[in-house]
Amino acid sequence: MNIAILSRNAKLYSTRRLVEAARQRGHRARVLDPLRCYMGIAPGEFSVHYKGKRLADYCAIIPRIGASVTFYGTAVLRQFEMMGVFTPNRSDAILRARDKLRCLQLLAREGLGLPRTVFGDNPDDTTDLLTLLGPPPHVIKLNEGAQGQGVLLAEKASASQSVIEAFRGLYANFLVQEFIREAKGADIRCFVVGGKVVAAMRRQARVGEFRSNLHRGGTATDADLSDRETQTAIHAARTMGLNIAGVDLLRSKRGPLVLEVNSSPGLEGIEGATGVDVAGAIIEYIAHRTQTRAKRRNK
Ligand code: ADP
Ligand code: GLU
Repeated sequence: MNIAILSRNAKLYSTRRLVEAARQRGHRARVLDPLRCYMGIAPGEFSVHYKGKRLADYCAIIPRIGASVTFYGTAVLRQFEMMGVFTPNRSDAILRARDKLRCLQLLAREGLGLPRTVFGDNPDDTTDLLTLLGPPPHVIKLNEGAQGQGVLLAEKASASQSVIEAFRGLYANFLVQEFIREAKGADIRCFVVGGKVVAAMRRQARVGEFRSNLHRGGTATDADLSDRETQTAIHAARTMGLNIAGVDLLRSKRGPLVLEVNSSPGLEGIEGATGVDVAGAIIEYIAHRTQTRAKRRNK
């Protein structure tokens, strides 16, 4: 197989591991910087060019598109889709997952467990909005934040009010959630590949912090999932239309609650905590999918 990895930085752990895992399995792999891909669009004709050459012959592309290049990155990925290149996560699914609110709406429609969430636009509605949510503490999140940035805990209703006013002043989109205290500053990252959980880790926030992100000083250990947690993670990834996903769960009194579904989940934390060759699982899944696609075409 000839695989392209769409990533801003070939030196990143996840990118390096994907290249390595592909080559170990006898495939060719190359990293393409999405911002260096340029495109031609004409009726029925699509091309992608890179540093003066037209790209051809890729069987599969693995998108590793960071939040800062979502728009251009997904446009490049879409161009490859138009050319018939297989991608485990399609551009429309990545765009869908980038919006936390939209993600929660889709998951709620499936009846999946979620922290109770409210959002609203007009300052005149804030008091009623918070009443709808219930008593504090509240967790306030910027809609497009990542790695725990823009996620705050407000212990008192007055604090929630001030944070909301500050966010509104900045024209930021945000949502407000009930605080799941019994999660005790931990969440579970389930790494889903092709409808299976291939690895799972429990991330624990450092003392005095409720956000368990590794970037915020959290620590990760291998996690054993209950059947319900496994099914929830798989269902959440399927709902978002993602074949590769990092599904974050909180353990609550009412069962697993989905926090978010990440379309470009990092490999370093999960491989380090679990010892699972997640990059290998991704490559094998893609090899399997492209083979079945080829067989179908040849029939
Ligand atoms: P990000 O996408 O920036 O990581 P998250 O929504 O995943 O944002 O929140 C970051 C962390 O904060 C989570 O991993 C979890 O540990 C904690 N957290 C988020 N929402 C809640 C909540 N409603 N109740 C308790 N803890 C939460
Ligand atoms: N982007 C990383 C991931 O999806 C975030 C890791 C973290 O800080 O928890 O795994």
